[in-house]
Amino acid sequence: MLIGPGGVGKGTLAAELVARDPSIWLSRSWTTRAPRPGERERGAYVFVDRDEFERVVAQGGFFEWAEFLGHLMGTPIPNPPEGADVLLEIDVQGAEQVLAKRPDATVILLLPPSLEVQAARLASRGDDGAHIRRRVDQGIFEVERGRTIAHHTVVNDEVGQALGELTAIVERTRTAAQGAAKPEDT
Ligand code: 5GP
Repeated sequence: MLIGPGGVGKGTLAAELVARDPSIWLSRSWTTRAPRPGERERGAYVFVDRDEFERVVAQGGFFEWAEFLGHLMGTPIPNPPEGADVLLEIDVQGAEQVLAKRPDATVILLLPPSLEVQAARLASRGDDGAHIRRRVDQGIFEVERGRTIAHHTVVNDEVGQALGELTAIVERTRTAAQGAAKPEDT
């Protein structure tokens, strides 16, 4: 799971990871928030209204879901191709739910180099001033609570560098999981 404050670059890094490694399968979340420019076209989310989201909650169709700044966000029950590793880009409340179901999951907390850089990134995608302040405040919570569950922390200062660190974490995690799955050598 990739977690971290809004504007830290989770979406960009998740897309890059998947583009470089076809055995990583990125879950597409559902949301009740309105699409930002271009999001619908690139299939960033499944955009639904609250009634439809709640219908799927009632049917048990989400692996996890949470309310984030007034909008519902949820991961449908994952359906990856055989053998793929599942990548979720979610908030810290969702990550806690996933860990409760899958204690073997790995949590990577992405951090911005500074709060100023984070606010500037939020502004560059068109969020207004009041919204940016709420997102930055929410981000402080995401980082504090995120640190309590994260297995790894990566600072996203320069995308290439952060991607290199993420790739190394994925490789180490795979190797460790393969080792754990093998019977003990006698
Ligand atoms: P945004 O509005 O920036 O796209 O997303 C707001 C927050 O919701 C981000 O922290 C993002 O990672 C999180 N989020 C996106 N999809 C999901 C999801 O399926 N479940 C949960 N719990 N959080 C999500």
